[in-house]
Amino acid sequence: MSDVTGDPRVTVCGAEATGGPVSELVEPRRVQLGESTEVRRLLPSLGRRMVGAWCFVDHYGPDDVAAEPGMQVAPHPHIGLQTVSWLLSGEVHHRDSLGSSVLVRPGELGLMTAGRGIAHSEQSPDPHSPILHGAQLWVALPGEERTVAPRFEHHADLPVVTEGGLRATVLLGELAGAVSPGRVHSPLVGVDVGLRAGTARTLPLERDFEHAVLTVGGAPVVDGREVTPGTLLYLGSGRSELPVAAGPESRFLLLGGVPFAEQLVMWWNFVGRTGEEIAEARSTWQAEIAHGGDRFGAVPGYEGDPLDAPDLPPTPLRPRGRER
Ligand code: MN
Repeated sequence: MSDVTGDPRVTVCGAEATGGPVSELVEPRRVQLGESTEVRRLLPSLGRRMVGAWCFVDHYGPDDVAAEPGMQVAPHPHIGLQTVSWLLSGEVHHRDSLGSSVLVRPGELGLMTAGRGIAHSEQSPDPHSPILHGAQLWVALPGEERTVAPRFEHHADLPVVTEGGLRATVLLGELAGAVSPGRVHSPLVGVDVGLRAGTARTLPLERDFEHAVLTVGGAPVVDGREVTPGTLLYLGSGRSELPVAAGPESRFLLLGGVPFAEQLVMWWNFVGRTGEEIAEARSTWQAEIAHGGDRFGAVPGYEGDPLDAPDLPPTPLRPRGRER
């Protein structure tokens, strides 16, 4: 997906995040993407910009798109990040400038590593399932690895941990010995956790990670607090386990990782370290739209025009840390 900036709203509950466990609710802010898709953005938010290397979290749907085109995001560039496409319902056709053309379905991981540069499009296929529901997540690449060669991974067979009424699919990283095949560049975890009605379990966590939970269905109770759909609960670090429970059937994403030490410049679809790096990526993309080129490249098979980058802001883009 493609980023649009705006003013976030945050509700802070509990202690300030100065290390150690906290319990801080982040309310979503609504963002319009293109003509047809509204998403709810959880990261970056006003007080919380990252959770580990996770630097961008959008939750969309469930939307009835039976009579609609669904997701239609034209080719656009990325640098310095990985995109994680995760569907709860529906399907998205990913195409990129490496020549990938993959239909990503629920339970399958679409993992695109932008590195030094890639372009991609994301579209609901025609025909498509009536309900579209999913999450679009970004992971910042650390240090020099932000300029690795771009690649796309599609993992349709992810490890699943089942225990009582808990069913956890490991998107990235590791949970209870189950390791995702997705390649990451810093220690992190991403898990889709489903809880049957009436389930109460304890999830093992990495103590050195900070974690957050994004509810995508039902009403899970996480660390004793009910987290409503579309809301993110930031949990801080220093936890080796997390009690989770569900009255009704519930589902959430657990995201975590080692707190990201570097400051980032995030603008549009680019993650860099300096405003100059971002401006160069922007001007290269605009030149490639007009004349072609090979840093980002064209997206074969996409019918239509690529996205124009917005104008750079009048004030310099400044690096910012993981918190406000
Ligand atoms: Mn994108």
